[in-house]
Amino acid sequence: MKSPLVIKFDKLNKCLDKSFFALYNYYIMELMQRITEPILGFEVDLFNFNEAVIFVHQHLKENRGLHIVTINPEMISIGSRNQEFGRILNEAELSIPDGVGIKLALKIKGINQENIPGVDFCKKLISLCALENYTIGLVGAKEEIVQLAAQNLHKEFDNLNITYIHNGYFDAAQEEIIREEIKNIAPKVVFVALGAPKQEIFISKLKEQMPHTVFVGVGGSFDVWSGKVKRAPEIYRKLGLEWLYRTIKEPARFKRIFPALPLFLIRVIMETVHESWVKIR
Ligand code: UDP
Repeated sequence: MKSPLVIKFDKLNKCLDKSFFALYNYYIMELMQRITEPILGFEVDLFNFNEAVIFVHQHLKENRGLHIVTINPEMISIGSRNQEFGRILNEAELSIPDGVGIKLALKIKGINQENIPGVDFCKKLISLCALENYTIGLVGAKEEIVQLAAQNLHKEFDNLNITYIHNGYFDAAQEEIIREEIKNIAPKVVFVALGAPKQEIFISKLKEQMPHTVFVGVGGSFDVWSGKVKRAPEIYRKLGLEWLYRTIKEPARFKRIFPALPLFLIRVIMETVHESWVKIR
């Protein structure tokens, strides 16, 4: 049961003005308990968009680190096969439901969950960093893309302080150097765009040594922020068909969705039937 305050917050689309934060800061401690639901053994947070932003902000203010995963069916299927990645997913402190696949899976389990597109969520975190003077780091994508993304973010957010930028194409030896650089510069929030599972594995190696940092795996978000990749038009997004638009634009993605997405949903249906059967026995 959500408190009236949280319900009121849900109605606020623009959650990043000072008065909003001043209000919720007062109540935050008891509000932001994680509620998660397992999907095929992987915990997914049931926060809505605003609640998830508040949860992260609370951690930033208290100087507590986080690994944020923007979870999707593809990641769950990789996590089921790759033990290390599976463990990393379940050790993340926030696993936001990114995309229609997770939304449908939760629907099958009887839960109505808001979809939280990772690219929008991360943009919101960036505006929060600009507002609160938190430094950020960007790691990933091609050199031209990450530089363009940084320029565009600077244009969009006046006070943004990007203290570290590196492209996402490096070998094992360079990776060591990059991790050392990030540790030394210590941005407050590090956005990592290497695609899954690479970005989560990269983050897990840094996380222990940087317990006060917020890390987010952001997939193809830098491509979008650079302006080189266009988001799906509003109508596709509203209908939960962004994946269809991306597949039309990049047919190579088809292989990533089929048969993985339908198989994922069949597995979720089987899991849900099994859970219900166990309950009534
Ligand atoms: N990428 C990278 N290094 C690599 C592989 C990928 O920096 O070794 C980048 C790639 O350039 C792209 C992002 O990682 O910017 C992955 O995007 P993808 O579309 O796979 O992610 P999704 O949004 O589907 O999770």
